Amino acid sequence: MKTFFNHLHTLHQGKVEMFRGEMVPCFEVAARTEHVLHELQRRQLGTVLQPQGFDGAVLERVHARRYLQFLESAWGQWVALDPANAQRDAFPSVWPIRTLRSDVAPDNFAARMGLFSFDTGTPLTAGTWAAARSGAHCALSAARAVLDGDQAAFALTRPPGHHAGKDFFGGYCFLNNAALAAQYLRDHGVERVAVLDIDYHHGNGTQAIFYDRADVLVASVHGNPSTEYPFYSGYADDTGVGPGLGYNLNLPLNRGSGFADWLGALNVALERIAAFGAQALVVSMGMDTFEGDPISGFKLHSDDYLRVGERLAKVHLPTVLVFEGGYAVAEVGINAANILQGLC
Ligand SMILES: [Zn+2]
Repeated sequence: MKTFFNHLHTLHQGKVEMFRGEMVPCFEVAARTEHVLHELQRRQLGTVLQPQGFDGAVLERVHARRYLQFLESAWGQWVALDPANAQRDAFPSVWPIRTLRSDVAPDNFAARMGLFSFDTGTPLTAGTWAAARSGAHCALSAARAVLDGDQAAFALTRPPGHHAGKDFFGGYCFLNNAALAAQYLRDHGVERVAVLDIDYHHGNGTQAIFYDRADVLVASVHGNPSTEYPFYSGYADDTGVGPGLGYNLNLPLNRGSGFADWLGALNVALERIAAFGAQALVVSMGMDTFEGDPISGFKLHSDDYLRVGERLAKVHLPTVLVFEGGYAVAEVGINAANILQGLC
């Protein structure tokens, strides 16, 4: 299996995030991908490649142009406010909540940070845009490899992507890598694409991007949003809208769930994907379902991820895997490599 590794990922390294009322060191750290890369190389699981380049228009197939322009220019504007900001991560502090206007983009930088985001856990840094864009290119390269005949390909990148919407960042995510891969497959002749999201947290961005469409089915197994981030998305009755009604399947599980319940939900998702007649699969591969994850609440063990990979192999679909969450840094490499090994 080819792994497209985001060699620019270290350009995005937030210092702190807001967690339970205080600024704490970021959970989403560069060592995550390095552990996965090391484990893939140790087991000699396929080849590691750099992504190819893609035209900016490919990103606009999923993301709004004004949002992409904002991301590209945001750091420069942040530092222009105060040269001392070069030493500080940029965070939003105000949002256009209900009754406030989100159709205007104020000149004020803080206002635009809020317009294009939804939480205080996602620092924007000097290298965020370069890292995120290169990560998107990893996902697109993996999609390209599958179109060219590979049975599966892996995008090993951070920052992750599944919380990013058409025009907003949050949940450590800026560009929606899985959605970009799915759209790229659609734009190159694959008529029905399924996105399977197995991250602990509901992929609200992916759901929103495809919510009114019947050509991309989104199925997700995740922590019950009534208690788990991102709280406002991921309920069982989020089923799609308009032509997309019935093409969004959420399978929330309560905090504390173990592998048996989780695998049962995965099987339901995969049965729906088969009934849909998917011709290709994109997997948002979060490893924060692991029992030792510091910010999540499922109880999967490292060996369980081998079974996950074996189950995904039985789907017999061309598969793009995209690395998402997973914050038990010491184990994330073993767990991710177990999925790939099971799949192979
Ligand atoms: Zn997650």
